[in-house]
Amino acid sequence: MSHVFKTQEQKLAVDGLRRFLDAEIEPVVKEYRDQFIPKEKMQEIMRQLVQYGLVGGVISEKNGGLGGNGDDWLTGMMLFEELAYTSIDLSTVTLINTFGAVLLESVAPAHLRDRYLPGLLSGETFISMGISEPDVGSNVMEIKTRARRDGDDYIINGEKTWISNGMYSDFLICTCRTSDDPKKGLTHFLLDRKEHPYEVRNIHKIAMNSQSTSQIFLSDVRVPASNIIGGEGDGLKNTLRLFERSRVYVAGQGLGIARRSLEESVRYAQERRQHGKVIAGHQLIASMLADMATKVDASRLLIHRAAQMIDAGVPAEMEAAMAKYYAAEAAVEICRQGVQIHGANGVTTEFLVEKLAREAIIVPIPEGTSQIQQLIIARALTGVGAF
Ligand SMILES: Cc1cc2nc3c(=O)[nH]c(=O)nc-3n(C[C@H](O)[C@H](O)[C@H](O)COP(=O)(O)OP(=O)(O)OC[C@H]3O[C@@H](n4cnc5c(N)ncnc54)[C@H](O)[C@@H]3O)c2cc1C
Repeated sequence: MSHVFKTQEQKLAVDGLRRFLDAEIEPVVKEYRDQFIPKEKMQEIMRQLVQYGLVGGVISEKNGGLGGNGDDWLTGMMLFEELAYTSIDLSTVTLINTFGAVLLESVAPAHLRDRYLPGLLSGETFISMGISEPDVGSNVMEIKTRARRDGDDYIINGEKTWISNGMYSDFLICTCRTSDDPKKGLTHFLLDRKEHPYEVRNIHKIAMNSQSTSQIFLSDVRVPASNIIGGEGDGLKNTLRLFERSRVYVAGQGLGIARRSLEESVRYAQERRQHGKVIAGHQLIASMLADMATKVDASRLLIHRAAQMIDAGVPAEMEAAMAKYYAAEAAVEICRQGVQIHGANGVTTEFLVEKLAREAIIVPIPEGTSQIQQLIIARALTGVGAF
């Protein structure tokens, strides 16, 4: 049901990944439904996924990736949709490792890039990106975690929360306040979990518990100034640049689970009989399926437009926000309709649509809530910020 024009190369890549996910990963996802996947198992999975172009597909060959010049976000999105279709949990781990790799490639000093990028590309290591804090969500500029200069080092104190990959993380890119300058006050530090220990606690959620979302506590963590990524004071600029791309990926998560809910619902509607015929033959069910399918395709078109603009080097802040806003909200509606089409079966754990509906509720929150995306779109239209 993936109606886009793919090149022969893209088709081969997507079909190969689809076959692998169906045969090898689907059973693992079923086995760990709502259960935490241990790190060793997650490593085993990631080692396999990276061979299909995930993570490395958007990293240039000269830095060990598979992506030519590292500018094939469209193919990256096609692959990512397939992964999210199979598991939003695995797609989250992949998303964070991908954007950690992108940050390392684009702005890290060579000694950090050469040391930490290869593990992400081979699926051996995991990264976390620590921006959010208990009192800092939508407004990144208010970050409180402090990095205080001490000779050649910085001492970091603070608390991060909702941090994906936290329990798995071998290293953390931590966004810290190094000054009170509103635009140049934030800096990225790389903290190696062994060398600059931070404490991690897992957070249980409504869904997506097969991977880790965590609190991270930083208490007098001493880290050398050479572990700054992207220059002191560049944290906000580099975070916003990354958001343009990562938002399109989160939109892809919404698309993946929405497409799954649609396909599960089509199958169910073709089999379930009421009032003497299959429910697909009832016009109100047909209406829901048509609605779901149209929204799935609209999500994909917005996502692919944003990815193509990024590939072309054209600013895509508004288009990325539109993709995230639309695909996330559409996923909530589509996955709810998926449950409705399944009737009472839809709220049992015997059927996948129940899990998809719980997952969908999460998608409008990370990487900028739907409200924040609306504000970004409106600002692009009017030139007036309404934050
Ligand atoms: C599964 C998951 C994974 C995550 N992974 C990470 C991660 O790896 N790293 C990381 O740093 N963070 C991560 N986050 C955190 C995520 O980025 C934040 O949750 C998000 O930015 C929203 O912040 P908040 O939850 O504090 O909500 P708040 O900012 O407190 O917002 C609460 C409500 O107010 C609305 N709101 C806020 N400001 C405005 C405004 N100006 N106008 C109108 N409405 C407004 C919001 O839309 C929302 O509805 C993750 C979150 C989730 C759920």
